[in-house]
Amino acid sequence: MSPLKIIVRAPAKLNLSLDTPFTHSDGSIEWRMVMTSIGLSDYVQVETNDTNTIKVCSDSGFLPEDNRNLAYKAAQIFLKETRIQTGLKILIEKNIPVAAGLGGGSSDAAAVFKALNNLFDVGLSFETLAKVGLQVDSDVPYCIYGDTALVSGRGEIITPLNKLPKMWFILAKPHVSVSTPRILKKLARTPVIHPNTDELLRGIADNDYSAIISNMGNALEAITIAEHPQILTLKQRLIKYGCDGSQMSGSGPTVFGVCRTESRARRVYNSISGFCSEVYLTQVTSEKINQ
Ligand code: ATP
Repeated sequence: MSPLKIIVRAPAKLNLSLDTPFTHSDGSIEWRMVMTSIGLSDYVQVETNDTNTIKVCSDSGFLPEDNRNLAYKAAQIFLKETRIQTGLKILIEKNIPVAAGLGGGSSDAAAVFKALNNLFDVGLSFETLAKVGLQVDSDVPYCIYGDTALVSGRGEIITPLNKLPKMWFILAKPHVSVSTPRILKKLARTPVIHPNTDELLRGIADNDYSAIISNMGNALEAITIAEHPQILTLKQRLIKYGCDGSQMSGSGPTVFGVCRTESRARRVYNSISGFCSEVYLTQVTSEKINQ
């Protein structure tokens, strides 16, 4: 059979809200998060061959290329669940910073699920792909849906939300590594400041930019900031340079600032670039990625 090939965009996500209402008796965390997909994206190319093996390559020097890569895991699980026999070559153009709180690995995995679903015309619904995706990582179900959504349960309950009003994001990633499992372990011993996710949801339903900005929040932020105070400094600088709000995404360390207009966002981008070496200017994802 001649090889089949597809390229799928895998956008980064930002947490407009991240809350952990409680921990389940098995130690897993109950999440309540509002996520949105942004323009900053990886591109995942999936090509079939007759080797009966999976090979993953990326242009990043920091990624595992074996079954520790979430894209590899996704391909393995999809082929097993659908009993399709094929060899695969997966090429990842990595633009999303790794281990940054931006969900790059989960988004690559979701892109592989969509690519294979499409290449082999399997016709699995988002709901089914999300269920299967949970075996890879708790952020994969959200990444299957993308756009703006409320994520709850252990990551498997996805409620799509209204499109956000026009806004620009300036992302600044400080040069520190954050271990998500370590931050989550500390969560059990730290009093949590819960964000007002209900008000944020109301702001999104009303298309109310100011309400969205004033009700963003991240329950993990204080824990990561205690380890890396430069995150707080970056947040403060984003506001000082002109953002309407600023927050850490995921367990960090990336911080994002929000502006309503492109001209203001470009000014902030230029100012913060003098202070932080890894900076991105992006918007809520515009082109439709669900395929
Ligand atoms: P998390 O909060 O789940 O740790 P993150 O958004 O902070 O995720 P990712 O870029 O997804 O960060 O990377 C998390 C870990 O997953 C890293 O240790 C990385 O080596 C590993 N990983 C495996 N596959 C990938 C992939 N395709 N892209 C990025 N990271 C990957």
